[in-house]
Amino acid sequence: MLALGACASSTGTTVAWKNYPHLWKAPFQNRPFLFIKCQLSDVPTIPAGFDTAINNFTTIAGLGTGNLVDYYSDISYGAVSLYGDRVVGWVPAPFSTTTYPGRRAGVTACANAIPEGQVDFSSFYGLVIITNALIGGGACYDGQQNLSIHGQSYPLACVVFDTGSLWTWFGAHEIGHGLGMPHSFDTTGDICQGGSLPGEYEDPWDMMSSMCTRAFLNPNFPNTGPDSNPGDASAGPGMNLPNLIHMGWVTSTRLASYTAFQAPHTFKLAALSHPTARGNLGVLILPNPKTPGYYYTVEYRQRDGWDAGIPNNGVMINYFKAKDAGPNTPYSFLFRNKSNPDEDGDWLTGEGWLDPTHTIQVCVTSIDPVSDTATVQIGVPTPFCASGPRVKILSPADGSSVTAGQSFTLSASATNNLGQPLPDQKVIWRADSKLLGSGKSLTTHIDTPGGYKITVTGTDSSGASASDSITLQVVAQSATPPAKPTVQIISPTPGQSYSLGSGDTSLTIALSAQGSSGVVSYNWSDSLGVISSKQANETLVVNLPFSITPCGATNDTIVVKATDNHGQTATASVKITINRYCIN
Ligand SMILES: [Zn+2]
Repeated sequence: MLALGACASSTGTTVAWKNYPHLWKAPFQNRPFLFIKCQLSDVPTIPAGFDTAINNFTTIAGLGTGNLVDYYSDISYGAVSLYGDRVVGWVPAPFSTTTYPGRRAGVTACANAIPEGQVDFSSFYGLVIITNALIGGGACYDGQQNLSIHGQSYPLACVVFDTGSLWTWFGAHEIGHGLGMPHSFDTTGDICQGGSLPGEYEDPWDMMSSMCTRAFLNPNFPNTGPDSNPGDASAGPGMNLPNLIHMGWVTSTRLASYTAFQAPHTFKLAALSHPTARGNLGVLILPNPKTPGYYYTVEYRQRDGWDAGIPNNGVMINYFKAKDAGPNTPYSFLFRNKSNPDEDGDWLTGEGWLDPTHTIQVCVTSIDPVSDTATVQIGVPTPFCASGPRVKILSPADGSSVTAGQSFTLSASATNNLGQPLPDQKVIWRADSKLLGSGKSLTTHIDTPGGYKITVTGTDSSGASASDSITLQVVAQSATPPAKPTVQIISPTPGQSYSLGSGDTSLTIALSAQGSSGVVSYNWSDSLGVISSKQANETLVVNLPFSITPCGATNDTIVVKATDNHGQTATASVKITINRYCIN
């Protein structure tokens, strides 16, 4: 039920897998799918490497590489197992690319192409056919329905994959339908893409909103969909709290609750990607005690694991119609934070969400990626969130340059402490001390070349104000182009090797880079996806990914990107080796 589109954004983050221990009281649910390789009657060839890719993506053959089995093991906190997934075929499809009868009929036809008695269909939760050319992948419906195979009826989930489906951002979404989840929505009714319902696919933090989600690149399973480009996002995100509750993967013992009109209460939330952190996995807010079954959910999402593609750490609030939850019926609606630059729905420290009837406020009091937790206070909407407005310059970027005498646009987010926008006349821009004008967006120009401090100041109805500023270079029109920046990595040194004991799960790495004059920012990353820093010099304690479990050597390429005050960039990289010594 997913039409491919181009709205996903790639952040360039690389993969950092985590596996979660089976801590959960939820019953272990064995949900194996049978993948039937079904050869179209008009396509005589199987693409090179396709059989191996199918095995690696769908079965335990590819465990630990971020495949479908990993995804559902991680996301369900070990409650759901796809370890029994099996691949059969190729069987001849009784249809061609042009006579494909649609998903349900296509899946049923391919299942019937397997000779009777070869497969026990009752031992599988669902069927997925995989065709050897593009026909349009998708799910037949949410959950299981009865399929007729060799004259018998079997309750089965029903999904179609083709040559463009072997990546989690696509495949996990369709399997999610098969497991019984509908699309997630937001409350504003924005349109993700042509053909989608208002609000449909509009929770960028939830897999059931592919294709408008924030995903990242898993090089093991790149985006192979139509119109894909190298480097396109292909994996993540995780799933939102309403889905996790609906599926029984987060149970009531891991949830806190709050009922409208109770005294304000502080809750500590573990990131959904860190279920072992101290805290609840969410808060279930009952807005009206007379209508149980309709909740607000509060969850904390951190930019790592399957959530490595989200733009930043933040608290998310959904409207959850648990009472109406069921196949093909949406139950999850994200409240977006319209005051944030990307309007994605994440609430940051000091920001307050007010419910639509103004009886409940959720205030984010802290976000702490070191302990993998956030703290929220929930209560009646006396403004107990940090007082005063919030203003932030969105563009241009700090240190960027414009041409003297030519117009450019300044923009800022500016809200009060409840997240409501300030009036434009209360948002004032200055270049040094000179007034430029007012408004959350302002087009202006500066005639005299030089370095300027651009400041925006917002004032709320109580007279409290807050400011944000950037530096801006105004360059003369005839100025010769600035010299290209350079950057060098001083530490680690090329080929540097690090030793690990057999039980070590983290490693200390000293980063140090030197940029040429004019370099104003640094950004470190690495091929294992464990390093992230914006300092020129920083000693990091990095958590090692799940993949560095075997004894022996793992290579990592560390990259630093330096940006100068003209927005020009330079990169440098160094290869290191991580050796794990094991005693057998
Ligand atoms: Zn869908």
